[in-house]
Amino acid sequence: MADLIYLDYAATTPVDSRVLDVMRPYFADKFGNPSSVHRYGQVAEAAVDSARETLASVLNCRPDEIVFTSCGSEADNLALRGAALSMREKTGANWILTSRSEHHAVSKTAEQLEKYYGFQVEWLDVDEHGRVTPEAVKKALCDKTALVSVMYANNEIGTVNPIREIAALCRENGVLFHSDAVQAAVYLDVDVQTLGVDLLSLGAHKLYGPKGVGALYVRKGTPLIPHLTGGGQEFGLRAGTHNVPYLVGFAEALRLAKEEREARVSHLQPLRDHIIGRVLEEITDSKLTGHPAERLPNHASFVFKDVDGNLLLTLLDAAGFACSSGSACKTGNPEPSEVITSLGFSRDWALGSLRVTLGKDSTPGQVEAFLKVLPSLVEKTRRLT
Ligand SMILES: *Cc1c(COP(=O)(O)O)cnc(C)c1O
Repeated sequence: MADLIYLDYAATTPVDSRVLDVMRPYFADKFGNPSSVHRYGQVAEAAVDSARETLASVLNCRPDEIVFTSCGSEADNLALRGAALSMREKTGANWILTSRSEHHAVSKTAEQLEKYYGFQVEWLDVDEHGRVTPEAVKKALCDKTALVSVMYANNEIGTVNPIREIAALCRENGVLFHSDAVQAAVYLDVDVQTLGVDLLSLGAHKLYGPKGVGALYVRKGTPLIPHLTGGGQEFGLRAGTHNVPYLVGFAEALRLAKEEREARVSHLQPLRDHIIGRVLEEITDSKLTGHPAERLPNHASFVFKDVDGNLLLTLLDAAGFACSSGSACKTGNPEPSEVITSLGFSRDWALGSLRVTLGKDSTPGQVEAFLKVLPSLVEKTRRLT
């Protein structure tokens, strides 16, 4: 992969070598089951406890408010299904309020709750920058609302939502509020007390931790029905023997993300702004997607008119650059992304989307090399489209 420049850190990130180092002993030497009574078990249990304490300290919550899961998607599933079912049982409320720009882990779960479980979903429109406004939430809230779910930062267009204000509105109305922070946690503050959320989803592989591990913050007293039943792990909310090395790695990755956040942001934001400025200046019929200011510091995303986005990605790959047209899950899908469409772009624009996401080790040289080839590749794609 030495001849490829990776510009797709919103899809996933490499495991930091410091993270790998702390994970390694737990695969073989310290392989015990945390539920075992003997010392193998005790060592593993201590590692899980310590990982939980690290997450709690970054999130500013209690350790027993952290539920480890197998990924960010699972955290979203547990939050939506668990809270919706439990709120309906408690109060009879059966409406779920969510936005048109959520990750599929939220939107498909909401759709399933509607189709098979008798809930009603209200989809909040986003503004032209992909933001869910507190006003829209306020208008839609009613005494039937069981749960509101609005993501912290969008993976496709980088937009950061005003979740603090939305959380405050939900609290005033006695409604649970969940936010998907899987994409946000590496660059934004995830102090759950200042955010005021009841449920917050995290995933390790977007923040230089391993794939296949995540967590859900569950504020004390939040009613939640477990979605994986079995042993009593994770306070009875999520059964399954702990993946000890991955939990250890997740905690170290999140700890480093907080410790290095300011440095990473000040490194990446000027590079991001340079990409946005040059692309809009040098490429005709190009537009930024997402919010110009309220966006993730590593995230640049565009639409180009009359461009086949997938073809552009293929040409970029051949030229040595790994980018994305939106969510990684959508690659190969000729339909325009629902998130881009929700911004109001017509099909001739929406099909030509490009997402360029930087990582902590991205360099100005890589960015320059990319900017040098992009305009001609867009033109080439236009000729071939
Ligand atoms: C990546 C991502 C997810 C899914 O996380 P996984 O750990 O890959 O399951 C959910 N929401 C957002 C916003 C994401 O970026």
